[in-house]
Amino acid sequence: MPKRTAVDPTFLDLATRECINLRCRCGREVSIAPFKLIGAYGVTQHTHIFSLKERFRCRKCKRRPPKDFWVAKWQD
Ligand SMILES: [Zn+2]
Repeated sequence: MPKRTAVDPTFLDLATRECINLRCRCGREVSIAPFKLIGAYGVTQHTHIFSLKERFRCRKCKRRPPKDFWVAKWQD
């Protein structure tokens, strides 16, 4: 799975069907569709995606930030 090479993309830079992926130290992994974030938490299309990393908290173990944070094509 190729990782996005842009240094700090915004939501506008995301291609169709790309989503945000997080992996916690506890092993929990989630994929989040960008449209679920835009309009919530003060996120707009111009928000830098990696600026959000510190704000994600694991729902399972409550730790943050995530160990891994990357953008990839949505997996069906
Ligand atoms: Zn966790």
